[in-house]
Amino acid sequence: MTQFPTNHPMGNDRQPIHDDNHALSIFDDITKCLTFFKSCGARQIDISDQSLQLINDWAKPIFLRSKKNKLQNKDLSDIQQRALSCTNCNLSANRKNVVFGEGSPHGRLMFIADTPNQEEDAFGQPFVGVEGDLFNRIIQSIRQTRNSVYLTHIIKCVTPNGHAPSADEIQACFQWLMLQIESIQPEYICTLGELASQIMIQSSDPIDRLRGRFYSFQGIQVLPTYHPALLLRHKEKKRDVWEDLKLLMKTMDI
Ligand code: SF4
Repeated sequence: MTQFPTNHPMGNDRQPIHDDNHALSIFDDITKCLTFFKSCGARQIDISDQSLQLINDWAKPIFLRSKKNKLQNKDLSDIQQRALSCTNCNLSANRKNVVFGEGSPHGRLMFIADTPNQEEDAFGQPFVGVEGDLFNRIIQSIRQTRNSVYLTHIIKCVTPNGHAPSADEIQACFQWLMLQIESIQPEYICTLGELASQIMIQSSDPIDRLRGRFYSFQGIQVLPTYHPALLLRHKEKKRDVWEDLKLLMKTMDI
């Protein structure tokens, strides 16, 4: 069972941390309720994609406004400098490099993957080697480059033998991700892999069930899909990822 960070904006018990987050959680809840009614076949109220998009757009100005004041001293390179020497959890002991992330500091689209692998740890860079080649082809297929989007992980340090991070490690590292999101303010997040998707959406459902539709995180639209590493082992999943990417392109209008 995935342990969600208590510093997640919704909190583990979905209690708001402050007023703006309370408002954002209301928009989230409205969207979830309407989506549920839609899946039940409700017909008497307008639950079109346009209406759901409108609700997301209502939330967005609050997200941007709430971040404005907090952005002082939250320059991305500043955050990166601090993260590179982070020893906030046990994973600092065995890493070679903190894999902070890279790409556009103002990207509309942010990719958040599970945990760095050994190769990424060695280079201190996300998506290198064979997985990196596949990831590059994925972003090319949606007419983007590594410089037009932002790439990062839920956890910034490699885990021993690729084991899932502990609840404490997820908790400790989530602050860096929040700072990245606050600084970059992406309009869209594409989560790559089960762990990243579960944490961002706060769901324990498997990735097969989560992928293929949008969720909301603080007014940012989140689309979960499979991690490139899984595609290398299960080529038949590439078709699903392509369907997800087509949905992303259509929604982003690219
Ligand atoms: S995993 Fe995150 S919190 Fe833990 S040491 Fe690395 S950067 Fe710090």
